[in-house]
Amino acid sequence: EAIIRAERVEKYYAQPSENRIQVISPTDLSIVPGEIVALLGPSGSGKSTLLRMLTGLSKPSAGEVYWHGQPISQSESNVSIVFQSFALFPWLTVLQNVEAPLQAKGIAPEERTRRAMKMLDTVGLDGFQSAYPKELSGGMRQRVGFARALVVEPEVLFMDEPFSALDVLTAENLRSELLELWHNHTMPTQSIFIVTHNIEEAVLLADRIIVLGRNPGHIRTDFRVNLQHP
Ligand code: ADP
Ligand code: ADP
Repeated sequence: EAIIRAERVEKYYAQPSENRIQVISPTDLSIVPGEIVALLGPSGSGKSTLLRMLTGLSKPSAGEVYWHGQPISQSESNVSIVFQSFALFPWLTVLQNVEAPLQAKGIAPEERTRRAMKMLDTVGLDGFQSAYPKELSGGMRQRVGFARALVVEPEVLFMDEPFSALDVLTAENLRSELLELWHNHTMPTQSIFIVTHNIEEAVLLADRIIVLGRNPGHIRTDFRVNLQHP
């Protein structure tokens, strides 16, 4: 029933000295439908490295990541990533940014505009479709990031420190709106995996928290959060 399962994944990076440094020691984890999982750990503990392996962006040095039981490199995984730095295309309008992943999938123009407009509405960007990213505040830019990630209806939505570049209030608002969408079942994804170094954020958002230790990153704890979300 797991959507994504990592088995004994490890990551080493080459060093100029030719010594390899191990960033992730053998790690198992899985993501099942219906859960928000937070990956919590200090800076440098390997959170982004693990996220890149889980999404297929980077290949483990050892072990394997499975997508519905198939090695991820041989499957059509349907995931999206929201980045800390938004990673929007500055030369495209808000609408064009959100349409971009649909265009990459070969969806026809009218259909992708329809879907992108609907998603912009969902994330509270109604009326901003013709703006360019540089005209928007950080919070609004990250809304575009969410819309662009969600428009393909990913099975798992990955987020790498999505609120870290925002001021405290903006982050708080965006976080609670996100949770509201999730609990209203208006967010077109089955699971959310969020990387954060903020323990409060992990506790507020997640159903399950995985804590990564440092030197080299390994899972220290994996526990359910027994809080009643509002
Ligand atoms: P986190 O996301 O928890 O801050 P990272 O996964 O970004 O951790 O990095 C973990 C460690 O691996 C850090 O020491 C970082 O400098 C190193 N690292 C990450 N990516 C690479 C890479 N492509 N090449 C070499 N070292 C890397
Ligand atoms: P792959 O394993 O598929 O070769 P990597 O996991 O090495 O891919 O990812 C390479 C990415 O990591 C590049 O985008 C690079 O800019 C970034 N990177 C390189 N060095 C570091 C570092 N020390 N810390 C964090 N990221 C790094």
